[in-house]
Amino acid sequence: MPDKNIQNKISFQGVIRSVQPRSNVWRYRLDNRTHSMTGYNLFLKGVAEGEERDFAVAISEKQQQKLRFHIGDAISGTAWTKLYPKLEYADYYRAGALKKNAEAPMPDEDKASPWVGEVPDLSVYDWRGCRMLAAASWKSRCFTCKWACMANVAIEYNWGVTQKFRFESFCYGPKSCRLYKMGKPRAVPYKDCGSDYDKGWLDDICTERRGEDE
Ligand code: SF4
Repeated sequence: MPDKNIQNKISFQGVIRSVQPRSNVWRYRLDNRTHSMTGYNLFLKGVAEGEERDFAVAISEKQQQKLRFHIGDAISGTAWTKLYPKLEYADYYRAGALKKNAEAPMPDEDKASPWVGEVPDLSVYDWRGCRMLAAASWKSRCFTCKWACMANVAIEYNWGVTQKFRFESFCYGPKSCRLYKMGKPRAVPYKDCGSDYDKGWLDDICTERRGEDE
């Protein structure tokens, strides 16, 4: 059994089920929700650590730009297990030796939602901003969409002393998408003050640059 307190380098291979942006989000009460794009998550069906299963591997923007991964590609590589599982949604990160073993046809960029076309550069996500997306939608109808994202979230719980961690789903897609559902307001706790609830107005601020169909 691998030791959970140390990192292990593993090999993997599989077929891509989804490519999504990877981000870190910092929350502080209702005053701040800051999104930092850190790369992409590849969601795969295949073999990792000798076991057949579904898993996710975090890759860098440079790696994505070079190999242009998309749904259906068969790939292989190495990666590392997580030292702090609470901070990272992907199962593995620090990917290397990435190789495309078989390329699927390029996706149809004009297909209606979920948008399964190639993911854009991270600066595009940064510019667009995002809205909260119901976790059930992320897992089902939105899973293959390039605008879906499962973020690593740190909540400033006791300023400068303690943070709480969780994962949250977001959507960077057009506001008019017929599949969109916000889900329940999200509690943002702070020490000795209970919780404030993010009910959506931070979404309006985060996406104020674009109109309904952008
Ligand atoms: S709601 Fe967002 S993530 Fe889901 S299909 Fe529409 S644009 Fe994509």
